[in-house]
Amino acid sequence: MKGDARIGNFKQQDAPRYADALQCMRCGFCLPTCPTFALTGRERSSPRGRVALARAVAEEQLEFTAAVRDEAFFCLDCRACTSACPSGVRAGEIMEVCRSQAQAFHPLGYVGKTFREFVLHKMLPTPDLLETSLLPARLYQRLGIQWLVRRSKVLKLGSDWVNKAAGMLPELAPPLRKQLPKVIPARGERRGRVGFFLGCVMTLMYPQVSRQTVRVLSHQGFDVITPREIKCCGAPHLSEGDRETARQLALKNLELLMATDVEAIVTDCAGCGSALKDYEELLDGLVPAATLAAFRSKVRDVSEFLADVGLRIEKLIPVNTTVTYHEPCHLCHAQGVSQQPRTLLNQIPGVELLEMDESSWCCGSAATWGLKFSKESQQVLDRKLGNVAATGAELLVTANPGCQLQLAWGVREAGLPQQVVHLMELLGQATP
Ligand code: SF4
Ligand code: SF4
Repeated sequence: MKGDARIGNFKQQDAPRYADALQCMRCGFCLPTCPTFALTGRERSSPRGRVALARAVAEEQLEFTAAVRDEAFFCLDCRACTSACPSGVRAGEIMEVCRSQAQAFHPLGYVGKTFREFVLHKMLPTPDLLETSLLPARLYQRLGIQWLVRRSKVLKLGSDWVNKAAGMLPELAPPLRKQLPKVIPARGERRGRVGFFLGCVMTLMYPQVSRQTVRVLSHQGFDVITPREIKCCGAPHLSEGDRETARQLALKNLELLMATDVEAIVTDCAGCGSALKDYEELLDGLVPAATLAAFRSKVRDVSEFLADVGLRIEKLIPVNTTVTYHEPCHLCHAQGVSQQPRTLLNQIPGVELLEMDESSWCCGSAATWGLKFSKESQQVLDRKLGNVAATGAELLVTANPGCQLQLAWGVREAGLPQQVVHLMELLGQATP
């Protein structure tokens, strides 16, 4: 049997590639980089162990048991193991694909299935519905109920994930999607034309960040096109094992963005950027390879883009502060973008970058992982916050909304003095 074709005890649809599992030579270099191995010390919760599980299912030595499913979902998909692996094994992605097998082998009950389908098939793919769904949360804040609830500690009576989700909610402003002009012209000497991919979490939770992103791009000399019809990037679907809906969303986004006459497709969300770059693999066989390669070559994280084209620094205003930088996993490990945010930070006049230890260690957010495994997430977060506190920096800078939500909540709960900001908020502050 050819290595790549073997399915074994997996279902045919969206099975991990056997050849990927075969690449592991069991050297163990990945073990010290894996947060779930650090938490448990269990081989099966390590990259090497997870790859071995997938291989055993493919070789029909193991059924797709509940334990295999649980390991697939316990993986943070942080991809730290990919950065460490000399053999190019992508354990996080193998687990991500394994999650799509879970529904076939261990289907949810009626209530769970209905809720899952509503969120993944209806709410996330429909921006209007998604925005409407947050109206009650905005009212809850506007009427001062959130303030009362936090002061009275009534949330401590709920389950851990409810407490955490409610505590993480930032102050919500109206969504940005319909407010952003379709075209924002370049300021000063024009350098080009870019498309802006506005992510769902950014428009809903951090509109002020993306507002700064498009403003900075415009000040840097780029016309910024923001297509309003853009859909969710599909990252939540991949994370929950719904690859089919992710594919449908990817097809729509690809068609829309390729029809826009831009030199680059820029995003300020590391999770979206990683998902967009992965379209090449997700849509393999459905879209001509040349189109996929052309799309992939255009997608850039905003820090990657600005560092590549060179930041115009002449007019930047000093921001006198000390900062430390937390690297989002989906930026440094999934996209290999690690130096560029630091390059930009070092170019902002007045900013002093104080490096933290383990800057690329996960913060424990990882989409819904931080809510599903709230106890473990707290342990991962505590390790991160210890490293943040040791720097003594005034600001904690990151580049992904999921990290920002988790870190802002963690800093607040721990009583640390740091304010958590997105890199583009800081660059926006320095932009006249
Ligand atoms: S996943 Fe990579 S680093 Fe880890 S044991 Fe296998 S070959 Fe070694
Ligand atoms: S993706 Fe992260 S959590 Fe998952 S196996 Fe790799 S290092 Fe461990």
